[in-house]
Amino acid sequence: KSGFISIIGRPNVGKSTFLNRVVGQKIAIMSDKPQTTRNKVQGVVTNENSQMVFIDTPGINEPKHKLGDFMLKVAKNTFREVDVLLFVVSAADRIGKQDRYVLDMLKGIDVPVFLVLNKIDQVHPDNLPKIVESYRNEFDFAEAIPISALQGNNVENLLAKIEERL
Ligand code: GDP
Ligand code: MG
Repeated sequence: KSGFISIIGRPNVGKSTFLNRVVGQKIAIMSDKPQTTRNKVQGVVTNENSQMVFIDTPGINEPKHKLGDFMLKVAKNTFREVDVLLFVVSAADRIGKQDRYVLDMLKGIDVPVFLVLNKIDQVHPDNLPKIVESYRNEFDFAEAIPISALQGNNVENLLAKIEERL
């Protein structure tokens, strides 16, 4: 099995950290400044069962500089060409305007969208169901998977769920 996976979400939720973790190499630039990673960064994960190509998409997430119609079209077409979309959020923060801006771009897209609740190392487990529910109210996610990209928690499980969709 093989396929393409796009990583999307507002700045600072841990997209690059996740990509670096799964690829096991520092290929994306990690930073608190969302503008640092300008271009698509691809990482390939190969194991016995599958090959997964991950695409980090840093540029789409800036409501302050909303994309023009053309750019938006290009971004959306990219989404249609992938097998799984990972919508990454910070479980440590409430859903906000920037999260919704990215979610709006996914409306009507036929690709399975996973809710990846990152930074669970900063969240009390008892609070997790409520957080998941608040996102599920906004979008019909194919899966909701809590992880810590920084510490590696549950990342293997996420990769297994992605494999099921390839
Ligand atoms: P991006 O803008 O979405 O690509 O976010 P980055 O990967 O650059 O991460 C933004 C900040 O969040 C950095 O300071 C990371 O170290 C931090 N971060 C990323 N993942 C986690 C996580 O799972 N837990 C915690 N506590 N911090 C994280
Ligand atoms: Mg990044």
